[in-house]
Amino acid sequence: MKLSWKRYDLQLKHTFRIARNARNYVPVVILTLDHDGIIAYGEASPNIRYDEDVETLNNFFSKIDIEQFDSPFALDEILQYVDGIEVGNNSAKCAVDIALHDWVGKKLKIPLWKMWGLNPKNAPLSSFTIAIDVKEIVRQKVREAEDFPILKIKVGLENDREMIEAIREITDKPLYVDANEGWKTREKAIESVHWLKDKNVVFIEQPMPAAQFEDIKFLRDHSEIPLIADESVLHLEDVPKLAEAFDGINIKLMKSGGIREAVKMIHTAKALKMKVMMGCMIETAVGISAAAQLSPLLDYCDLDGNVLISNDPFNGSRNVKGRLELTEKAGLGVDPLE
Ligand code: MG
Repeated sequence: MKLSWKRYDLQLKHTFRIARNARNYVPVVILTLDHDGIIAYGEASPNIRYDEDVETLNNFFSKIDIEQFDSPFALDEILQYVDGIEVGNNSAKCAVDIALHDWVGKKLKIPLWKMWGLNPKNAPLSSFTIAIDVKEIVRQKVREAEDFPILKIKVGLENDREMIEAIREITDKPLYVDANEGWKTREKAIESVHWLKDKNVVFIEQPMPAAQFEDIKFLRDHSEIPLIADESVLHLEDVPKLAEAFDGINIKLMKSGGIREAVKMIHTAKALKMKVMMGCMIETAVGISAAAQLSPLLDYCDLDGNVLISNDPFNGSRNVKGRLELTEKAGLGVDPLE
């Protein structure tokens, strides 16, 4: 078994501004696993919110001694070893997990969704994300997103109302609202939630900083709109406690460390009667297709990372009018374009 990796700078079609930062391009690393004549792919989209960047990825991948294992079928054992190399580094671990799954699917000649006995028809529609911007640009983005049935709106700076009003001048589509920890006080959060109440908002994602757990519990008691955890949830071990403060969780492969952990989180959340959503970072079709394979298990889906960029180096699942196509192609169903 051999691993190699390569950096790609993904160009965003629009500047992507959220409560925390703004970006015009996003560096990701594609991991390639080569074994027994099969080439499999994984992806890491590092996020500084979780202390990762391209340098930490390079360091982490350099430490992996994959050749000690005979075959990617030893997935559980390999991932335990990889997890033990160093704490954190979740997107790096995710890349390994995705590549192993892709390899197994390709070896068995079936797509992952089929391996898990899922029906693509059960997948919910995916939202399309509109990042924070001035009114004029928001209007333009909403028009460009005409084909997408659900919009996800980033808020959490000073112009929340202006943005929502600009959108509502154009469309009454259901909105997922994501504050990315932007509302810092109980007063601000409650005021925002009440203002959004009658505006066809399906849920609010991460209204307040993850560290303010008690404030989020308080907010939930005063909110008519369901709350979904994002920055508050990384791994399986986070899920049970979050049931006290949130109505659901947003799982991302880049936070969980991959597909294997995400499946455990999905079933745990369901057992706790929580809603299950999967989201993404800015990613290529590799990361998006990996998450899409699990989409029939979800209540909500926000897998649009590769439609927000103009230079996806891979073919694979794409959010087309809210539908993520799952094909009969083996593994993740992705191919490099180059
Ligand atoms: Mg979010």
